[in-house]
Amino acid sequence: MKETICTIPINDIFSERDGCPICRMRDMVEKQYVEYITGAAMMAPNIRVITNEKGFCHRHYEMMMASGPKLSNALLMQTRLLYIKDHMLPKSDSSKPSKSQLEAIKNARHSCYVCDRIDHDINHFLQTFFVQFSTDENFRDLLKNQEYICLNHYELLHRAANSKGGVKSKDMKAFCEITNALCKNYLSTLYDDVTHFTTMFDYRNAGGDWKNSKDSVERSVKFLTSNEVEEVK
Ligand SMILES: [Zn+2]
Ligand SMILES: [Zn+2]
Repeated sequence: MKETICTIPINDIFSERDGCPICRMRDMVEKQYVEYITGAAMMAPNIRVITNEKGFCHRHYEMMMASGPKLSNALLMQTRLLYIKDHMLPKSDSSKPSKSQLEAIKNARHSCYVCDRIDHDINHFLQTFFVQFSTDENFRDLLKNQEYICLNHYELLHRAANSKGGVKSKDMKAFCEITNALCKNYLSTLYDDVTHFTTMFDYRNAGGDWKNSKDSVERSVKFLTSNEVEEVK
């Protein structure tokens, strides 16, 4: 398989202003991998070896089943089930499962081919991000103008910024100022909106203005988990 199936148009992603830019990038890469895995990659034996071993997480099984052909999903599942039987369960019915088998079962729930590919691509993407940040004023402005950076991607950005190929020391102060503002200001907005939401349950505020608070809990979940949650009516 190629290093990555995705070409990530970094300036296109940052030209938009809607939520967290790293989440947008993740969504784009994710969609491509989900289509790839139930499409072109399905019959590639070298990829099947890896997907049999890693399987998929719940989120990605859901996406694969929603968008992929039924037969592709069934064939992927058939060999994954066989792998689990051969590697994670005792050969004999009267034997105890080994510690490593139990450990493998425990890890199997979170082990995911698509998640691993996304992590790999995001890390790759961040290298370009840091180069742009150091060399392109215009890119810095695009970053500054984002709606926010979600909590998980704030952590990811700062971890990568301090690693090899990260932010140059001369740019670190500017990087911190921009990213701290994008995370902290949005968190403050969420706090105010959630607070306003709670006060609207006081009978003295009946008929009052909900302002921007109606979906504040859902937006907070998205900020904290990087994933959309259905609005509760
Ligand atoms: Zn994010
Ligand atoms: Zn996954």
